[in-house]
Amino acid sequence: MPISFYEARQQILDTVPALATEKVSLLDAAGRAIAEDITSRQPLPAFDNSAMDGYAVRAEECSVGKSLPIDGYLPAGENLNKPLQPGTAVKIMTGAPIPQGADAVIPFENCKKEQDKISILYSVKKGDHVRWTGEDIRPGDQIIPTGTLLRPAEISLLAALRISTVVVHRYVRVAILSTGDELQVIDEPHFEGGVANSNSWAIAAACQEVGAVPVMLGIARDNLTDLREKIRKGLQADVFITSAGVSSGDRDLVREVLAELNVQEVFWKLKIKPGHPTAFSMYDTTPVFSLPGNPVATLLTFEEFVRPALLKMMGHRSVLKTMYRGIWAEPIKKKPGRLQILRVSVSFNQDGEMLLRSAGNQNTGILRTLINAQGIALLPAERDFFAAGEKIDFHLLEGSSTLDCNQQKSDGKIFSIEEKVQ
Ligand code: AMP
Ligand code: MG
Repeated sequence: MPISFYEARQQILDTVPALATEKVSLLDAAGRAIAEDITSRQPLPAFDNSAMDGYAVRAEECSVGKSLPIDGYLPAGENLNKPLQPGTAVKIMTGAPIPQGADAVIPFENCKKEQDKISILYSVKKGDHVRWTGEDIRPGDQIIPTGTLLRPAEISLLAALRISTVVVHRYVRVAILSTGDELQVIDEPHFEGGVANSNSWAIAAACQEVGAVPVMLGIARDNLTDLREKIRKGLQADVFITSAGVSSGDRDLVREVLAELNVQEVFWKLKIKPGHPTAFSMYDTTPVFSLPGNPVATLLTFEEFVRPALLKMMGHRSVLKTMYRGIWAEPIKKKPGRLQILRVSVSFNQDGEMLLRSAGNQNTGILRTLINAQGIALLPAERDFFAAGEKIDFHLLEGSSTLDCNQQKSDGKIFSIEEKVQ
């Protein structure tokens, strides 16, 4: 029995294992998920310091109109080695430690300098332009929980705390096998009826987008001998992805060979479109995804099922993309029974709300619609019609922050997913 989109994704996430961990340098950790909780052992800033170039003073001595002699100079990286003398100011640079006794900094532009004195032009409060010890991070603060993606900001914090190595999960190695008698290596000359093996490249690129390492196993022909040999190889990776040969055609032998090699099938067939014949299995601790062969279905099932699994295996806490609610710009109908994974273009209306419309012909053969799409809407299985103005859940596709600004009004025509509308 086909299962739902959400059941399938849950079963995958409940089944895939986390990979072993390793200790790596910050350079190698960026873009990966941390596999330990980081608690700070020191304050940040580590000492009271100046936020501006100016003069360190005692705020209570700084009434407007008063003059203070300049007594000393403090560049960043140096210590004054003496307290601020009463009734004086110390010239101080950004980042230099606040001298003992001082409690405020007057920026150069806020005072008037006359020879070796400054005169106060504005009132000064205790703490002005001072960065106090620990005002950012205190010792004992839990700052980065395990599973956090290490973005430049987290790397900055780790480096500031002098943490030069962290524990992360190792990169997941993904074996990729395309299957089909019609497939050709992409740089071979085209023969009649030959189809370029684009899926291996597409899957590899999708793996790289999440930091997984693709291992290209090439093409297996639609016969048991070739499939057995290449599938055996694939089962040695951390994850194994096959493309095509999982429908119900005469030459769809991938599942048969997987079963013969003791790979346990978790599910086959989903109530989704495209991607209906997707299968998911486990070989000991190796997840095996058998994706459909149509290039659009391959990429959409990767996006919705494989991507979260790879992130989970590499220890990410957040594995699903943020879902947004968009407004349908045009009425749309679909067949009930399957969740539609719809390629959508996303634009903004005058109120700044996100408007969704079909990115074009939704036939699985049309790759261009995926290229033109900024997002993926998930149209619930049971529904058959969506009126203009309805709210629909969608997520953005990677790298599609430049939203389509095409804001033409709907002509009221009902767009049918089933019709091959261009
Ligand atoms: P299948 O699942 O084997 O029935 O294949 C479905 C469709 O996807 C057919 O039109 C295949 O030619 C096409 N296809 C299968 N594998 C690939 C591939 N690796 N690259 C590009 N197209 C493919
Ligand atoms: Mg085939």
